[in-house]
Amino acid sequence: MNNNNYNELHDASHSFEAVIGLEVHSQLLTKTKMFCSCQNIFGKEPNSMVCPVCLGLPGALPVINFEGVRLAVKAALALNININKKSLFARKNYFYPDLPKGYQISQYLDPVSSNGYLNIETDGVEKRIRINRLHIEEDAGKLIHIGSESYVDLNRAGTPLVEIVSEPDMSSAKEAVSYLKELRDILVYQGISDGNMEEGSFRCDANVSVRRKGDEKLGTRAEIKNVNSFKFVEKAIDYEIGRQIDLILSGGNIIQETRLYDSKENVTRSMRGKEEAHDYRYFEEPDLPPLILDEEFIEKVKNSISELPQSKRKRYADEYALTSYDCEVLTQDKNIAYYFEDLIKVNAVNNKGKVEIKKIANWVINDLLFALKGIENQPALKKGNMPEQEDFFNLILEVETGNINKNTGKIVLTEMLLTGKKPADIIKEKNLAQVSDEKGLEGIIKQIFDENSKELTDLISGKDKLFGFFVGEVMKKTKGKANPKKVNEILKNFIEEKKN
Ligand SMILES: [Zn+2]
Repeated sequence: MNNNNYNELHDASHSFEAVIGLEVHSQLLTKTKMFCSCQNIFGKEPNSMVCPVCLGLPGALPVINFEGVRLAVKAALALNININKKSLFARKNYFYPDLPKGYQISQYLDPVSSNGYLNIETDGVEKRIRINRLHIEEDAGKLIHIGSESYVDLNRAGTPLVEIVSEPDMSSAKEAVSYLKELRDILVYQGISDGNMEEGSFRCDANVSVRRKGDEKLGTRAEIKNVNSFKFVEKAIDYEIGRQIDLILSGGNIIQETRLYDSKENVTRSMRGKEEAHDYRYFEEPDLPPLILDEEFIEKVKNSISELPQSKRKRYADEYALTSYDCEVLTQDKNIAYYFEDLIKVNAVNNKGKVEIKKIANWVINDLLFALKGIENQPALKKGNMPEQEDFFNLILEVETGNINKNTGKIVLTEMLLTGKKPADIIKEKNLAQVSDEKGLEGIIKQIFDENSKELTDLISGKDKLFGFFVGEVMKKTKGKANPKKVNEILKNFIEEKKN
């Protein structure tokens, strides 16, 4: 292809737009499976968490797990989806070795909830993504392939799931990732799912098609299956958009199919022709009654929903004047958000001194999270282990009141994380308190002047850069404990005196 052709093709690709819809499967954090009393836990010995119901043995009957229903309704309400007071379970029939019954219990014509939306923000632009439905279903088992042999683990068979189906309202891979992150944040915050993509408890299939801008009609779509990280979702969708545009521009046709993403090669590959709903021969589950929910139950679930990450971000920006970056980092993990909010409470009630909220946010974002990352692999600290809010606040106060300087504060923080000791004890034990005492500092500075008389003469004669050199020397002599503000003051005064 010569350059001209390439440029034409490249320009032509800009006249296309992508249309993306997502189907998310999220496991629910129930103690037991959706239709039997087997435990719902990950990582147990294969086929140890099974019973006649989830193995599909003849004569075994399913029973609805109401905790699963409650979590599904909670998810729907948090996502602004209308609850249907009467819904039906249905059998989705297909054959696969990880599906012992030969069908999956799901919901089809009458799902527990339909018609909702989620507001997302991508590169500062807000957009509303409509949600078609959220329904309850059970997970299948898992195939494990070792060499040329395949094994079946049915521990996961029957695990409660919600499937959340968006409308095709996203037009870029980035928007798809914003939607997924927002969705996962909400489910994790509300204790509905652990949102773990690697372990497969939060999975996503993406329906991707392209069309010429301005076209009303949707293009033929390909479904990309089970991509297990946000990064790969973005790459897989971007690849797929490019592939479809290239194919159309070179005169080919898109076929409706299911494709798998290969993260090593960064390509999607055809897996099979896409099934249509009628391939599954859905029919109403004869072993389960309709699911009837009353107003009181729905109201109770609604009241159990805590503040959503989106509104936390807005509140932090409004009430505390934090930047959007700060709000983003502080709310990305609910443990961090609640920790930060606890610190603000401690700040409000303590009588030793008040700290600006922006400073508290900086301490959490720049120091605590950073220190936690650095320390993760050390045995003394379990991931996610944070110091008591009271202790961490006291550390902030030690620095803000000048008892120790910022660098020493970082050392104390690491020590706190490793040992769980209180900041005051660490400062005392290691003799880390700042030297702020003026007489003492003056003496040290005079001594340094004597030892560096040439530099001193140069500084007095106008080589201002040397000021930093002297500050550094004082820090060295005091092993970093000198109060830098005091050192600056005293040094300035001395130099002024000597200049006159
Ligand atoms: Zn079971």
